[in-house]
Amino acid sequence: MVEIGGIIQQLKAELSPFGARLVAVSKTRTAEEILPAYDAGQRIFGENYVQEIAEKRVGLPSDIEWHFIGHLQSNKVKFLAPFIHCIHTVDSMRLLKEIDKQAMKEDRIVSCLLQVHIAREETKFGMNSRETLELLNDPLLASLKHVRITGLMGMATNTTDEDLIRQEFRSLRNLFDAVKTGRPGFTELSMGMSSDYKIALQEGSTLVRIGSSIFGERDHSLSK
Ligand SMILES: *Cc1c(COP(=O)(O)O)cnc(C)c1O
Repeated sequence: MVEIGGIIQQLKAELSPFGARLVAVSKTRTAEEILPAYDAGQRIFGENYVQEIAEKRVGLPSDIEWHFIGHLQSNKVKFLAPFIHCIHTVDSMRLLKEIDKQAMKEDRIVSCLLQVHIAREETKFGMNSRETLELLNDPLLASLKHVRITGLMGMATNTTDEDLIRQEFRSLRNLFDAVKTGRPGFTELSMGMSSDYKIALQEGSTLVRIGSSIFGERDHSLSK
């Protein structure tokens, strides 16, 4: 078995020609599993569950950049506001306003990505492109000083059909290109997981979210 540190180095080498960065998805993993990745130089870690990330970060180095990639309820935002660097899953103005409010209390600015629904599956969260544009063009946005919308996030259909995955990533890339004009800080395109990150890189991803390829398969009996 290749060690976690070796896998991190390998992934970094793979991402570097694309100028993309790695979000190591550490949901369900213990601090003991995370530290070898950290020791190999990995600093960006992604988590899905508010309680899990809040507990876990206490025992880990403070220069870790935590990204939240799970579905986020408004009433949980206050637990993330003191430390979260980036929230990938903003899917409404209501949620964005709550992040702004809680980040203001902490005197922080939180990076936010708008989650766009690109997959065929009904179950995936996210806005459609019309809702995304509406949010980006909402005049209210200018008054939110403690959030910064830095890009878009999407998840492709869970399928072996690579053409479909590519089409879905490409549709997100096209939306990204259309809206980034005139928005200087709009630079991030979060797409690609263990099974499809190679396609995502080819389609312009700047942040790939990889869990099982680094840490092994998750024990589903433990995941919430
Ligand atoms: C779990 C998760 C990932 C990582 O998935 P792997 O298949 O383990 O790489 C990426 N993005 C989101 C939103 C996730 O929930």
